[in-house]
Amino acid sequence: MCDEEIYRPTERFCSPLMKTTKKTTKEERERERERERELSMTGYEEDIMEWFDGIAANAGQTQRETLRRILETNHGVEYLKRWIGDQGDELRNMDSEAIESLFTSLVPLSSHADVEPYIQRIADGDSSPILTQQPITMLSLSSGTTEGRPKYVPFTRHSSRTTLDIFKLAAAYRSRIYPIRAGGRILEFIYSSKQFKTKGGLTVGTATTHYFASEEFKSKQKSTKSFTCSPPEVVSSGDYKQTTYCHLLLGLIHWEQVEFVTSTFAYSIVHALSALEDLWEELCEDIREGKLSPTRVTEASMRKAVLEELKPNPSLASRMEKGCEELKRSNWLATVPKLWPNAKYVYSILTGSMQAYLKKLRHYSGELPLVSADYGSTESWIGVNLDPTSPPEEVTFTVIPTFSYFEFIPLKKTSTTFTTVEQLVAHDFIEAEPLPISRVKVGEQYEVVLTTFTGLYRQRLGDVVEVSGFYKGTPQLNFICRRKLILAVNIDKSTEKDLQLVVEKGSQVLSRSKAELVDFTSHANVVEHPGHYIIYWEIKGEVEESVLGECCREMDLSFLDHGYVLSRKCNSIGPLELRVVDRGTFKKILDYYIENGAAMSQYKMPRCTTNQVLLRILDACTVKRFLSTAYKSAS
Ligand code: AMP
Repeated sequence: MCDEEIYRPTERFCSPLMKTTKKTTKEERERERERERELSMTGYEEDIMEWFDGIAANAGQTQRETLRRILETNHGVEYLKRWIGDQGDELRNMDSEAIESLFTSLVPLSSHADVEPYIQRIADGDSSPILTQQPITMLSLSSGTTEGRPKYVPFTRHSSRTTLDIFKLAAAYRSRIYPIRAGGRILEFIYSSKQFKTKGGLTVGTATTHYFASEEFKSKQKSTKSFTCSPPEVVSSGDYKQTTYCHLLLGLIHWEQVEFVTSTFAYSIVHALSALEDLWEELCEDIREGKLSPTRVTEASMRKAVLEELKPNPSLASRMEKGCEELKRSNWLATVPKLWPNAKYVYSILTGSMQAYLKKLRHYSGELPLVSADYGSTESWIGVNLDPTSPPEEVTFTVIPTFSYFEFIPLKKTSTTFTTVEQLVAHDFIEAEPLPISRVKVGEQYEVVLTTFTGLYRQRLGDVVEVSGFYKGTPQLNFICRRKLILAVNIDKSTEKDLQLVVEKGSQVLSRSKAELVDFTSHANVVEHPGHYIIYWEIKGEVEESVLGECCREMDLSFLDHGYVLSRKCNSIGPLELRVVDRGTFKKILDYYIENGAAMSQYKMPRCTTNQVLLRILDACTVKRFLSTAYKSAS
């Protein structure tokens, strides 16, 4: 294999057709799709799986070569010079093991805050080689919902190429188990954010926005043999409500061809299908008359593109109306297979903070398999799901050793007592020296560190993962949680995952009534003494107060962290508080984030927050409060 082939799958299946992005008519698009259908029959699956097996078998060496390549590509940039100095010149003559040890001994671990000043200079127009040799022309806005504010991350052609590679690799594994008809459609609930320019003229948008606008996105449709239902104008409108309406409308129109339903994160599918519950009558009316609601969709280019696809279709409208009436009677159970009977599966990120939407997604999907999508971040893709049949609760992500250079900081939970929240967050785990991919151990937890082709060096990602095994020589990871998302009042440390399990227990009690949990978040109140956890719930349906009281108690008892249990027993942490918020509160929070630059495609509701704006929204919308009666004898 030549050097380039090791790093990217071979050109036979990765070279995109270099097409212009000019607007096309419906006929031109149909012709293009036909041509792409023919071109797609090249059997890329086996080649890409073979490529992956090769790099996975040799993961340790592939990683060292990846590091060498990154350092050669970005040799002499300001950031590296600062740490490596003149020794950078010697790298060329060193073997890859020596490069790895020089790099990890001289370049320190970094956080986003450490590189922010460098990225700001790039954003302001400094095109000197600061982080990368090739000038950076695009910046991605990571969703920021996890840390409170969006951050800029460099985006290059490498970013969209690796996105294409991982999508094709995952599609190859999926199609072995769930083959789809070539030339079919995908009902994709995808959304671009608005792009804007920085002072220095760089284009800023979320990573998914850049990807949806790239040649690679078009090439993916071709090589994975599936075409999105909506034209690009719908994806890029920047108004998620209008886009959702059009995705639904076009999804219903192309109902027979839809092979699977997907989104980046599961939230978007749940959001869209719950919008369908309110919009179906208007959608059917539009299908009947071949029109597009002027109140639901106002954006001109999107209207034009969608109207081109519409013509009056009374028989389809009646069919859909009948289907939706039946679905309404059954509380929208199995919406996906009933409206899209040829769909083979539902595909999205279902892990981490998305687990909260699994129950609802299962409800909408009926018997259809839910397939977990891959693990990555704005900074870099990390791991691919090689087993589409594994349930979301058990899915593992197999690290792709050519995408970035990965390190893993070993983490152990601490039992030290701290007096401030800041100390707690900083010392949530005891850390050991970062390990390369070849030295991680099954059953251990780690924080992921990335060195990327896009100019990030030893940057902590803030995600906690657990190694569950190896595929050939490359580790397979379970996503555990975001490291900083942690509830802590005293000596307790409850992670996002703990909270998820607790809320599941609480909502099992809730399901005894006719109500269901729509969404949730939490906050550690350390202002009052003793401090206590607050969990905010939005509920759909009627529920008696006594049931909610029981939910609250059940959640309090379900936090199993030793520090929490001890503190609750001696009342140094007060009773857990359940606050029920008005219907629509979590949509208000979504709107707040979207207004501040987040994109629907990458939206993740923070499961634990200290953000004052959010807390004000939540508190203003609180309609009921309950205090746990657990550990009563202790207080
Ligand atoms: P962003 O860069 O804002 O899109 O967010 C990236 C973050 O989303 C990662 O660091 C993870 O915390 C989370 N994430 C991405 N993919 C997954 C996945 N498959 N499972 C769980 N969490 C994920």
